[in-house]
Formats: sequence, C-alpha cells, structure tokens
Amino acid sequence: MTELERKQDRAPIPSGWEYATAPESREIVSLRERYGHFVGGEWLEPAESYQTIDPASEEPLAEVGQATDEEVQLAVRTAQDAFENGWSALPGSERAKYLYRIARILQERSREFAVLESLNGGKPIRESRDVDLPLSAAHFFYYAGWADKLEYAFPNRKPRPLGVAGQIIPWNFPLLMLAWKIAPALAAGNTVVLKPAETTPLSALLFCDVLRQAELPPGVVNIVTGDGRAGAALVKSDVAKIAFTGSTEVGKAIQRELAGTGKKLTLELGGKAANVIFDDAALDQAVEGIVNGIYFNQGHVCCAGSRLLVQESIYEPVISKLKRRLGTLRVGDPLDKNTDVGAINSRQQLDKIQELVRSGEEEGAEIYQPPCRLPEKGYWFVPTVFTNVAQSYRIAQEEIFGPVLSVLTFRTPDEAVEKANNTPYGLSAGVWTEKGSRILSMAQRLRAGVIWANTYNRFDPSSPFGGYRESGFGREGGLHGLEPYLDFE
Ligand code: NDP
Repeated sequence: MTELERKQDRAPIPSGWEYATAPESREIVSLRERYGHFVGGEWLEPAESYQTIDPASEEPLAEVGQATDEEVQLAVRTAQDAFENGWSALPGSERAKYLYRIARILQERSREFAVLESLNGGKPIRESRDVDLPLSAAHFFYYAGWADKLEYAFPNRKPRPLGVAGQIIPWNFPLLMLAWKIAPALAAGNTVVLKPAETTPLSALLFCDVLRQAELPPGVVNIVTGDGRAGAALVKSDVAKIAFTGSTEVGKAIQRELAGTGKKLTLELGGKAANVIFDDAALDQAVEGIVNGIYFNQGHVCCAGSRLLVQESIYEPVISKLKRRLGTLRVGDPLDKNTDVGAINSRQQLDKIQELVRSGEEEGAEIYQPPCRLPEKGYWFVPTVFTNVAQSYRIAQEEIFGPVLSVLTFRTPDEAVEKANNTPYGLSAGVWTEKGSRILSMAQRLRAGVIWANTYNRFDPSSPFGGYRESGFGREGGLHGLEPYLDFE
C-alpha cells in the first residue's frame, strides 16, 4: 500500500459539501416597467396588459401586453408589407448579413440574456449561460450560412419563401425556441410574427433591441405577447405558415383549425422518452446521462429522458448510484452559479407536477426524494425518482414536464424496444451500451425522431429535431428545418 492510499483509507468521507453562494449579478439586465408589442420596428402601446414574474421569488418583473385580435392582425399585416416591400426580394447574401449580425450581437450580449432568461424562466444560470445562449447564437450563425445557398440546398427545385410565418413558442427554452423559429424563417426569405409564452416573454422583448441594433428592416420580425388567446388569433390570421412548439393538446387544436386552409404547419409537441441502460454500459457515465436527461431545466424539456429503462441485472447498482447522485444536486436560486435545479416555471406547472406525482404514489409506485431544503417563496419541486412503476401508471404514460423520473426494468433488447415504444409519443430516446452494433439496431427499432447514444440532450443547429405520432411532425434544425419555410416550383 502506498503512503497516499494509506492516507485515503483513513480520511473520513465527507458527508456533505457546503458551497458559498456564487450569485450572478442581475444588475446587467435593465428592465422597463412596461412593454408593448414590437410591430414594424416600433413599440405598440398595448390595449391590455398583464404582469410577468420571477418564478423563483414570485416578484413582478414587468408589465407586458396581452395582444388583442386587432393587434395580432396589425402585426401580421405589417409583416406582409415587409415581405412584399423588400425583404423577399433581397438577395440571400444580404439576408445572411442580418442573421450574422444578430448572431454576433447575441454573443456580445449573452450574459445579459442569460441572466434575463433565468430571471423570467427559473432555469439555472449555468444552463442559460452554457446552453441556451450559445445554442441560440449558433442557430443564427448556422442559418445565416444557408441564406444565400438555398438553390444548392435544394438542387433543381427552385425554392421560394412562403410569406408571413406565424410562430408560437413555449416557456421552457424561450430564447432558444425563438432562435429555432426565426433563424430559418428569415434565411428562407419569410417575415415573422412570433408569440412567446405568457410566462416568459422578456427575452423575446429584449431580442427586439437586438433586431434594432442589427438594423433589420422594420416589420420583418414582429413580436406580440400574451396568453393562448393571442396564439389562437395568430393561428386564425392571414399567415402562410404556423410553426408551433408546445403541448400535444394545443397542437391538435391548431391542426384542426388549419385543416383545409392550405396553410403550412409544423408541430413540435410533447414526449415521454425512454432512456435505455444496458448492462454493458459505463454506469457512472450513464448515471450522469440519466441526471442530465431528466433534471436538466427542471425536466421542462420535451425530449427529457423521463422513463428510465434499466436492464434487470444492473438495476441495484444503477438505482443506488442514482440516489447518491441525486443527493448532490443543488436546488435553489436560479442566479446562483452552483445551482443544478432551478425554479418550476409557473404555479400552474407546479400544480400539474404535484398532481401527477400524487397519482404515482396512489397507483403504487415507490417515491424517492433526497433530503432538500426548498426556498420559502417561489415554485419548487425536489428532484424525484419513482421505482416499482408499472407501464400503465400515469407517471409512465403522461408527460410530467418536471424533475420526476419513472424507472422501469427490462431483460432483453426486445423487451426494451417494446416498452420504450409503448407510448403515444415518439420524440426522443437514449441508449447506453458499449456495443456499437446494439446502438445501431436499437436506433432502427426505437420509434423516436432523435436518438442519443451514450449521451443525452445534445443539440446542434445542423442536426434536425422533431418527432413522430403525438410528438408532432416537421423538423427544426439542419437543412430539414429550412424546408417547411419554403415552397418549391
Ligand atoms: P401550451 O401548449 O399551452 O403552450 C405553448 C404555446 O402555445 C404558448 O405560447 C401558449 O400560450 C400558446 N397557446 C396556448 N393555447 C393556444 C391556442 N389555443 N392556440 C394557439 N396557441 C396557444 O403549453 P402549456 O404552457 O400550457 O404547458 C402545458 C403542458 O404542455 C406542459 O405541462 C407540458 O407537458 C407540455 N409542453 C410541452 C412543450 C414542448 O416543448 N413540447 C413546451 C411547453 C409545454 P400561453 O403561454 O399563453 O399559454
């Protein structure tokens, strides 16, 4: 035994780590008291408004507009004018310049945006700083690159823009979803009316500043805020296309509304992804992947690995490692750089998570939550694992959209595939194994739009994202993400 090993043997294992807080300053963001709608490059005084809050403290942040039907129509007409009077005729290389500018300004102002995203949405600053912001800028850079190459992207097909794209986005990745929607629409030569989610409008409103800084022609991008009524008005308006990300229920309602109108539609809806761990997987890495899969962004992720499928022979070590790891997650102030799990986005979402968790206990699953002290104000939920879960339980079937993992087991790859595919959704899946051949065969058999192997929740603008069945249709990202914004002669 070496001297070092002898010392390590005697050293007590620390029972807990105390960190000093490391808060990011919120001074970098200056908010106005009141925001209107951004139409034609100007702020339009809203007829109605509501207050948007910080979900970690329940403190009001600003007043924002609740768009009326007339305000939405005005935004659409303004976007149509901008489309007809210049934007659609602009050479792709000119459109690209604006997209590059937007990307660079987002990079320059990334700290400000990251703080605002955490403030209004509740996500940890580490994630908004290291994931949301770099990826948002990367989307604009990526699609800027395509703007002058559409003829090469779709050879012999003569692409042309559609007109006005109506875009409706959710609250889990407010700026990133905006980037996923606006960047390809502009690269393809369309103009945009975008409605952010009711609870997280502020980064979209700050983005209007970026549009002005980039000198994007007025009316090319218009932002109207408000709740589902504003979204419904946008769906009914005279747009050429709707791009929607959100719940399956609202997605279906939009599909019904648009049926027969000839308007184009892409839907990116919910998910209930299986994260499948085989017994030959590197367990410590797999446990990190499980944690990243479900507790990233408080589990408010459509592609979250919310169903863990563990091969029976490794069930015990995986669950005990997972429980130990859960004990190290820090839940709390989203602006603290040490925080792993931030605030739940809204009271409504917290109620939904609590209701589903109660159903899991009532149906007979075993709940595990690490000891954890939650802040008194704000919306919080302790990272949770359910074992003894039957496939029929609601927590194994329904999208919880919170930091709650349901664990199931399997013996053979066939059983894993059958259980993984036993869901109305089909957005994403994860596979953990050291065998390349098994990865390929699982990827072929799992009914999911995105499959990660020995990793989870990895995104790249060049890689298409989207689902099957109740997870929607159409792809965002990559070349595939341009196609829904184009017509072809
Ligand atoms: P919604 O589908 O209601 O929200 C998504 C967006 O659509 C928001 O901007 C919303 O506005 C808008 N919207 C709401 N109703 C309509 C309508 N009738 N017509 C047009 N647009 C509309 O999701 P929720 O925020 O209510 O979340 C409910 C559940 O949906 C979550 O618990 C989660 O399971 C799932 N979800 C899935 C997401 C995903 O990425 N796949 C994202 C968000 C939620 P407003 O914000 O004002 O309601």
